[in-house]
Amino acid sequence: MENCCKKEDCLFCRIIAGEIPSTKVYEDEKVFAFRDINPQAPVHILIVPKEHVCCADAIDGNNSHLVAACFEAVAKIAKAEGLTNGYRVINNCGEDGGQTVRHLHFHLLGGRKFREKMI
Ligand code: 5GP
Ligand code: ZN
Repeated sequence: MENCCKKEDCLFCRIIAGEIPSTKVYEDEKVFAFRDINPQAPVHILIVPKEHVCCADAIDGNNSHLVAACFEAVAKIAKAEGLTNGYRVINNCGEDGGQTVRHLHFHLLGGRKFREKMI
């Protein structure tokens, strides 16, 4: 996708660097997770790789380990947040996917039952 992989002035890179405040819930060597500023559920956490990857379309054999690390974090954070009855994980990719921040991230949503189903 064109004009996608620009790292300059990336909002999430600045949050990870601590230049912009966030409510951190988890951090490890590869992953940073913080509460969404506009929560769509009682629990709404953004899980992002510390290394800048613009979107799902840029995942390849060199960086897919970052996706694995994000999903390992999903399971840990879900437990810590008490999401014992399930949750939803969403990734928006690119313009048509509705992605607004061009740094790969997974939305972890929980704490309520999601009746709305797209698929
Ligand atoms: P996207 O639309 O790209 O899938 O998701 C971007 C998410 O980032 C949105 O849910 C939006 O609320 C969240 N967001 C945007 N700016 C900030 C911010 O400055 N801090 C936090 N914590 N979340 C943000
Ligand atoms: Zn970034």
